[in-house]
Amino acid sequence: FNKDKERPFQPTEILNLKVNDYKGHPIVVQKSSSVYDAIVQMFLEDVGTLYAVTSEGGLAGVISRKDLLRASIGNKNLEYLPVSVIMTRMPNIITVKPEEKLIQAARKLITNKIDSLPVVRELNSNPNLYEVIGRITKTTITKVFLEIAEQKFV
Ligand code: ADP
Repeated sequence: FNKDKERPFQPTEILNLKVNDYKGHPIVVQKSSSVYDAIVQMFLEDVGTLYAVTSEGGLAGVISRKDLLRASIGNKNLEYLPVSVIMTRMPNIITVKPEEKLIQAARKLITNKIDSLPVVRELNSNPNLYEVIGRITKTTITKVFLEIAEQKFV
């Protein structure tokens, strides 16, 4: 790590990275969607977490792989079970704002033992109504870690 002294590693730069510059594309489903459709969507989009939204587009819930597995055990009618019944709901969703630091997002992921954070902004200045504009995952953080290790930061 940092054995060639030409490109010194500066930790302060890492502390300044913003969520907005690293956020990925969020995959959202309507909260009225079935668990069956959510499973299909998760495979098609190749993501580990889906965000459920209301018909107005506000963030309503988070659906993880294990939420879907749990719902599938002993439940035969996944086509008729809405994701709103099994998702983690607002106001219990841990979110991050685009202007927050990436290091803060990493801390939220670890502290709350979760894989992803929806990146949100307030809808109509309503403090409890959020629009999902991105996502930060453990993969996002791992990629930055690799960039640092490969000395792309100077
Ligand atoms: P998995 O359940 O597949 O291991 P996670 O560790 O991300 O995936 O999720 C663990 C639990 O936390 C799930 O019940 C999920 O709904 C919930 N969860 C995931 N992300 C968030 C979040 N950003 N805010 C609140 N709860 C979340």
